Formats: sequence, structure tokens, C-alpha cells
Amino acid sequence: MRFTEVGHDVWVGRYEWFDVNITLVRGTAGLLVVDTHASAAAAREVVADVRALGAGDVVAVVNTHEHFDHTFGNGVLLAEYGAVPVHAHEVAAARTVEAGEWIKARYDEPANADDPHREEVQETEVVPADTTFSSAVALDLGDRMVELVHPGRGHTAGDLVVRVPDADVLLAGDLVEESALRQGVPGFGSDCYPLEWPLTLDIVLGLLTAGSVVVPGHGAPVDREFVEAQRNDIGILAETVRDLATRGVPVAEALDSAEWPFPREYLADAVSRGYEHLPRSQKRLPLV
Ligand SMILES: [Zn+2]
Repeated sequence: MRFTEVGHDVWVGRYEWFDVNITLVRGTAGLLVVDTHASAAAAREVVADVRALGAGDVVAVVNTHEHFDHTFGNGVLLAEYGAVPVHAHEVAAARTVEAGEWIKARYDEPANADDPHREEVQETEVVPADTTFSSAVALDLGDRMVELVHPGRGHTAGDLVVRVPDADVLLAGDLVEESALRQGVPGFGSDCYPLEWPLTLDIVLGLLTAGSVVVPGHGAPVDREFVEAQRNDIGILAETVRDLATRGVPVAEALDSAEWPFPREYLADAVSRGYEHLPRSQKRLPLV
């Protein structure tokens, strides 16, 4: 059985490709599916696993952000379950097609010619979310309410977390990272907001209790303490970027000019994005 219950009528399915999590929340109205995996083919496996669980039909879908490993199954879910709403933050929904084309172009590069998933990614029709919100919205699943909250920018500009208050479960998307596939390093990509990320996680921490189960986008479920530690590490990264820029260290030398809370090879985008986002008043030109 793919799905494991992590809270009352909340199941997580963990998939080997990208170590990504798909979560189901059941109410009397039916199932909410959070994230849809990285291709149409992968989503067909998810649908088979949902049917095998036998917990009912899907009545709504959520994308925690626009990246393909969380959205490329949208079309298959809609084909299988009819015109159910697909929810996302307004920025994530607006960027889904563009982000999808970008990743298809990456898979098209000669360096990725041998990637076993190349064709299934290329073949997937990108279907963005059709139901959006700005800061927060509650979804009615019949006998329980589920909250979608945009706690601020971090992994992307359109991250959301899903809170299931009656089960004390929070689905964090890629704002929290656990997977050993990337040594537990948060996803600092070319579209991340490293300086805002710690503040965003402060909002998330405010939604958690000592007993909360937190499901990351990738890897095993964690607790509040784990999120707090990761927030602090990202906070150190942000303060280090700020410090280097204030002292006039050029961005090209920044990575080698400090100690970092994560392995350096994952941090190039975090540093360049951090420099980019600092207000001009906090950047000093190097003295020559
Ligand atoms: Zn992801």
C-alpha cells in the first residue's frame, strides 16, 4: 500500500522519483489531493494508488507551488475525476505554464539525453491551477475545513501550506525539505527568495504545535522542532549574504568567503538571489 496515514484521514504517498510526497485529506465530501507528481505517467500511478486505498473519489486538487514535480499530474487528475477545482496561490498558478516550458527545455538539453524520465516529462500537457487566492482560503470538505495559507515567499514566489487543523497536520510543500536526495538542503533555485524565507517559516511556525505532523514536499514527515532548526539555518544563510554584501564582497566571491550552514554546492542561486534582493542601501561597492 502506497499511502500511510499520518493523521486522522490524512494519508501521505511517498514516491521514489524525486522522493516527492502526494497527500490525501478525506472529508465527507471526498478526497483532497495535494500535489500531483512530475508527469502524466507518474500521475497515472498516483491515481491507481488512490483507487487502491479505497478512500473515495477526488473532489479537489491543490498545488503547493508551480514546479513541475508538484503540478505535472494536474491534467491526469482532471481526466480521471472530472472538472474538479485545482487550487494554487495566484502567483504559482500564473507561472505554471512558463515554469513547465522551462523544465521541458532543460530536459531537452543534450546533457539530459539519457534521463529515463525525459520522454514522459516532454509528453506531459501542462495544466495550471484554475482556482486561486492571495493570502488565505478555507476549503470545505464536508465535515472538516482545510486551510490554504500563503505565508510569504521562500522556495518560490507562490508557496502555500495546507493546514488540517482538526488533525494537527501541516503540508509544507518545498518550504520545508527533508529528502536525503538533496542532503536535506532546502530547494534554493533560480526562483527562490532566500532573504524572505526565514520570515515565511516564522509564519508557518505560528501555525504549528509541539505535536504537529509536518509533511515536506520531499522526504519523511517531520515535527515543529525540525522546521525551527531549518528556519534557523536558512536565517543564518540570509544573514551571511547580508553581511557579505554590506562589507562589499563581490557576489562572485561570496560563496568562498564565508562558512555556510549547508554544503556550498547547493547555494549558488541562494547567494546570487540574495544579493539581487538586498535593498541598494545595504550594498556597498567594493573599494578600489
Ligand atoms: Zn519539489
